[in-house]
Amino acid sequence: VTDFAWTPERAKALDRADPIAHVRERFVLPDGVVYLDGNSLGPLPRSAGAMVATALEGEWGDRLIAGWTESGWMEAPERLGGLIAPLVGADPDEVIVTDTTSIALVKLLVAACRARPGRATILTTSTNFPTDLYAMEAVAQLLGDVAVHRVEPAELRGSLAADAAVLALTHVDFRTAEMFDLPGLTRAAHEAGALALWDLCHSAGAVPVGLREHGVDLAVGCGYKFLNGGPGAPSFLFVRRELQSELANPLPGWLGHAAPFDFAPDFRPAAGVGQWLTSTPQVLGMAALEAALGCFEGLSIEAVRAKSVALTGLFIEAVEERAPGAVELASPRSADRRGSQVSFRHPQADRIMEVLAAGGVIGDFRPPDLCRFGFGALFLTYAQVLDAAGRVAEAAGQPSAP
Ligand SMILES: *Cc1c(COP(=O)(O)O)cnc(C)c1O
Repeated sequence: VTDFAWTPERAKALDRADPIAHVRERFVLPDGVVYLDGNSLGPLPRSAGAMVATALEGEWGDRLIAGWTESGWMEAPERLGGLIAPLVGADPDEVIVTDTTSIALVKLLVAACRARPGRATILTTSTNFPTDLYAMEAVAQLLGDVAVHRVEPAELRGSLAADAAVLALTHVDFRTAEMFDLPGLTRAAHEAGALALWDLCHSAGAVPVGLREHGVDLAVGCGYKFLNGGPGAPSFLFVRRELQSELANPLPGWLGHAAPFDFAPDFRPAAGVGQWLTSTPQVLGMAALEAALGCFEGLSIEAVRAKSVALTGLFIEAVEERAPGAVELASPRSADRRGSQVSFRHPQADRIMEVLAAGGVIGDFRPPDLCRFGFGALFLTYAQVLDAAGRVAEAAGQPSAP
């Protein structure tokens, strides 16, 4: 007998009514595992094996170099960009798949600073992801005439002084899932004369972003988190169409040339987002990412978000009612400020995550005291999330669900 509001029956009823429940079948998920780490590495799409095998044997093996022209390899960066575009509210000709997030970030930061000469700062938060901060410091050193200005999130608007070249933020915080007001901050950046660059690593595939709707200038994002593209999957970058002829790729390569096979001695950028390609497309990695993007077929990002909000809300409520006071919520309680992740503080967070992992509940520990859980709405069930909540409550040292 239980007086908990979240009962297994209630969770199962949500699963029966879940309009995107069928999508779970598109993934390979080990038995007995509740995977709450898809925000670090999404699970394997069922179609990825065949798509990678086709790229290997059917294309590379059989066609050799003709793969470039006969197998769509050359168009893959823009084709995959077109598949990501609707998930982030961009037009297909504004997104390209290339590089990795850290490299794409450096390229866009340099281009943004050069497009706003005379402006002295890159504005960001001290809470930003390490790679983003390292990239900004390196760009400042490289350019010599800009400095990185790190502030607390609450100080951002007040810090958008007249000297900011670019406001560079990560939309959803990797520790707490706190989500910035992207429309409002983008508007504030523009009012101050700065460009707005957003890192969408923890947003793409989980949270609607509305890049065009909100006038975002530049964005980057990860292929292997909520997009499920596999370990080390290439990243994507977005350049607003109106800026495409103004901004220049600081790492030009022959494949971003307007006519690569003229082998001209001087660089002339391709029109559109194509100039951001520096190198030869990573065909094998892109085959897995293309399979993963196929898993979003027929899904709106709004439907994904609705389930994600319901899953994270259930998880918070169920942990708190089963173990009152045992953990402290480190994520926003308000769903509209929370990405697809829930973090709790506990002095023994590392031990809790080990106990959970031993029982098949996979999340991760973020020092010093965070238990971090990611929620992939494409493949989790409400029943699994309730089960995991009960185990978190138990591991945190409080009475568990009967
Ligand atoms: C995961 C993540 C990255 C990863 O960058 P890589 O170059 O793919 O290693 C960058 N920025 C943020 C905010 C991230 O969450």
